[in-house]
Amino acid sequence: MKIALLSRNKELYSSRRLIEAAIEKGHEIRTLDVLRCYMNITSHHPSIHFRGEDLTGFDAVIPRIGASVTFYGTAVLRQFEMMGVYPLNESVAISRSRDKLRAMQLLSRKGIGLPITGFANKPDDIPDLIKMVGGAPLVIKLLQGTQGIGVVLAETQNAAESVIESFLGLKASVLVQEYIGEAGGADIRCFVIGDKVVASMKRQGAEGEFRSNIHRGGSATLIKITPEERSTAIRAAKTMGLNVCGVDILRSNHGPVVMEVNSSPGLEGIENATGKDIAGMVIDFIEKTAKYGKTRTKGKG
Ligand code: ADP
Repeated sequence: MKIALLSRNKELYSSRRLIEAAIEKGHEIRTLDVLRCYMNITSHHPSIHFRGEDLTGFDAVIPRIGASVTFYGTAVLRQFEMMGVYPLNESVAISRSRDKLRAMQLLSRKGIGLPITGFANKPDDIPDLIKMVGGAPLVIKLLQGTQGIGVVLAETQNAAESVIESFLGLKASVLVQEYIGEAGGADIRCFVIGDKVVASMKRQGAEGEFRSNIHRGGSATLIKITPEERSTAIRAAKTMGLNVCGVDILRSNHGPVVMEVNSSPGLEGIENATGKDIAGMVIDFIEKTAKYGKTRTKGKG
């Protein structure tokens, strides 16, 4: 097969591993910087150009689109879909999961466990919003944040009110969320491929840190997940419409709750923690499922 890897940097661990695995399995793979792809979006014969070249003949595309280029990246991916190229994850599914509010509303509609979460626009509504989500301690999240940046724990009502007010004052959108203290600063990353959790790890935040992000000094270890956690992860992936994703779960005293569904999950942490060849599994999945025009929306989304 001829595979396109949409990635801005082929030296990154995840890109390198996917390239290695594809070549090992006898495929041709080419890395394309999504920001260097351009196209005539009104042409009856959709095509993509890259540094003067007309890109043709791809059977599958692996999107690894960073959060900061979601808008342009999903447009390029949609163009691949319109050309009939099989996307590992579809553009609409990526857009759904990148919009935290939309993602939580969709997960909630399917009855998937979530921390109690509120959203408001006006400072006047904050006291009532805080009451609605059960009062302090609370977690306040910038809607645009990633890697734990913009995630704040407010231990008291006063702290919560002033943090939310200052974020809103800066015209930033925030989520206000029940604090799952019983998770003890740990979360579980479930790596989903197709309808299976193929690997999972526990990430523990550094001493005194409630955020478990590896980028914030957290560490990863192997964990055995419960059947309930497994089915939560699979249902969350399915709800988003993602074939490959990382589902982050907290162990709360009201069962597993989903934090986030990540459409470009990193491979380094999970391969190191589990010793599994996740990149190889991703390529195997593409071999099994890729067919011309096989997208649910065919770029319509
Ligand atoms: P990001 O997408 O920026 O990584 P998250 O929403 O995943 O932000 O939060 C980062 C980390 O903070 C999570 O992995 C988790 O460990 C911790 N965390 C987030 N929300 C809560 C919460 N409501 N209760 C307890 N811990 C939380």
